Amino acid sequence: MELLRPSDVAELDGGVFIHGGTDVVPLLRDGLVVTEKLVDVREIVPRGIEGTRIGAGTTLGELEADPQIPEALREACRLAASPQLRNVGSIGGNLLQATRCWYWRLKFPCYLHGGDRCHAREGQHREHAVFANTPCASAHPSDPAAALLSLGATLRTTQRELPIADLYRLPTADNRELTTLEPGELILELDVPQPQASAYLKAMDRQRWSFPLVGVAAARFGDGTRFALAGVAPIPWALDSPEELDAATPLPGTEYKVEIARALVSRALEAVAPAYLAPSGPRERYPQLRWRARR
Ligand SMILES: Cc1cc2nc3c(=O)[nH]c(=O)nc-3n(C[C@H](O)[C@H](O)[C@H](O)COP(=O)(O)OP(=O)(O)OC[C@H]3O[C@@H](n4cnc5c(N)ncnc54)[C@H](O)[C@@H]3O)c2cc1C
Ligand code: SF4
Repeated sequence: MELLRPSDVAELDGGVFIHGGTDVVPLLRDGLVVTEKLVDVREIVPRGIEGTRIGAGTTLGELEADPQIPEALREACRLAASPQLRNVGSIGGNLLQATRCWYWRLKFPCYLHGGDRCHAREGQHREHAVFANTPCASAHPSDPAAALLSLGATLRTTQRELPIADLYRLPTADNRELTTLEPGELILELDVPQPQASAYLKAMDRQRWSFPLVGVAAARFGDGTRFALAGVAPIPWALDSPEELDAATPLPGTEYKVEIARALVSRALEAVAPAYLAPSGPRERYPQLRWRARR
């Protein structure tokens, strides 16, 4: 395998990108990614934070420590992985990490690998999705992606600008990809609006170094609060209102995730919009406004 280190985006010409390598190296090792050209993009992807703009090469460790960063994103980074991984893992790479579904990682010929079966649906699926879980029930593993979705972040790539919601797609019969990036398209920068308040809450098997069973991000802008969830669908999942949790379609082994999501959404709302949380709770007290926040 050839390792290239371009110093300008104009030099890009195919290959697989590597930044921190925390995801792509295990995938190469296990033969899940095969390439003859590995392209180290650390020289050409901006790194650092300036106001609302974040270089895609900024590490999770740098994001969690910077007071300019909205709380939801800081906390999502802080609760991700381990200090060592956050020290090298970039935010761009985090958004594009592959699924943790063990069948996929063990190379079962499942739907996401181009087959016609989801082995998780029929087999072990405790950590899998409760939304959009047909035909693939994988659960998106990125905490920061959910935070950025709730914050309404925009991405700048070598080819375009796009809302983070448009970075992700559900797999279809003719295209099993979970992102919309074109081959060779590099994420350069993120623009992350400043909310009035935001929060990220995460349920995991251990208190540290554990992927989200359910992660809930909430961000309040003006009089509205946006929610986005990690670990509940094959892609980061936006909720227009907490009532949308009623539309979940859990598998037998993931029903518990819906209950966790309800609790975390309620707590996240309390964290970002305490004005509406009267002792009897927002539902009873403000039925018409129940999930709207007040300045
Ligand atoms: C044990 C373990 C636990 C973890 N726990 C969590 C967790 O709890 N929560 C969580 O959110 N994450 C978790 N992660 C994921 C971790 O945060 C990511 O692996 C890391 O952020 C990826 O960044 P990287 O720079 O190392 O990416 P790389 O491994 O270098 O790249 C990852 C992918 O992104 C592509 N890529 C990289 N940069 C760019 C770019 N700028 N533009 C386009 N494509 C690019 C690569 O080609 C590759 O496909 C965990 C990882 C491990 C190994
Ligand atoms: S959940 Fe998705 S990735 Fe996992 S076995 Fe099913 S189709 Fe494959």
